[in-house]
Amino acid sequence: MLSWAKGLVEVFHLSYKGEMSSLSELNEEIALCQQCEIAKFRTHVVPGEGAEDADIMFIGEAPGWHEDQQGRPFVGPAGQFLDQLLASINLRRQQVYIANVIKCRPVGNRDPLPVEIHNCRKWLDKQIEIISPRMIVTLGRYSMAMFFPGKSISKIHGTAQKQDNIIYYAMYHPAAALHQQSLRQAIETDMLKIPSLLVEEKDVTEAKPGPQQLKMFEV
Ligand code: URA
Repeated sequence: MLSWAKGLVEVFHLSYKGEMSSLSELNEEIALCQQCEIAKFRTHVVPGEGAEDADIMFIGEAPGWHEDQQGRPFVGPAGQFLDQLLASINLRRQQVYIANVIKCRPVGNRDPLPVEIHNCRKWLDKQIEIISPRMIVTLGRYSMAMFFPGKSISKIHGTAQKQDNIIYYAMYHPAAALHQQSLRQAIETDMLKIPSLLVEEKDVTEAKPGPQQLKMFEV
C-alpha cells in the first residue's frame, strides 16, 4: 500500500480505539511520520497507550513483532511480565502510560539506530509534555540513556533522581529480566519501590545543576 494511504489507515485505527484528545491528535501525527526507513516496513505504528493524566510513565525501547501487529506497546511476553509487575504494586496498565523510545518496529527486532532515536525524540518529548507525569520509569538501556546519559544500568537500576519536578527511575527491561533469574529478582524488587518513591517524593535527590543536568535531556 502507498505509505500515505497506510498512514491514513493507521490514523483510523488509532481514532477507533477512542483515546483521549491531545494524545489522540499527537498519535495521529505520529502515525503519519515517515522520517525513518523502518516506517515503510511497519504494520502499525506504536505510539503508546494509557491514561493521559497518568502519574507514572513507563518508557521501553521499541515495538517488537506483537506490538507491530497490534499497534499497542508491550503486548508480547515482556508485556505480560510488565502487567504482572504493575499488578505487584496494585496498578493496571490503564492507570499508567506506556510508551517506547521509538514508535516503529526495527526490522528483525534489531536495536534502534541513533538516527531513529533522534528522529523519534520529538514524539516522546511531546508525550511527556501532554501527560506531565510525576515519575518516568525507564525500562532498559536505550530508555535509560536518554535520561541518565553515561550511566550503567547495572549500577543505577532501582535508583531515582528528580529534575524539574519529575522523578526519573531506572529499571531493567522486562524482556531481559524474563530470561535471567537475577535480573528478574532485581526488576521485581525495583518495581516494589515505586509507590514509596511517589509518597516520599521530597526525599528524592535533585539532579545537581551543571553540565550533567544540561546533558540530561540530550540524545
Ligand atoms: N519491548 C519494548 O521495549 N517495547 C515494547 O513495546 C515491547 C517490547
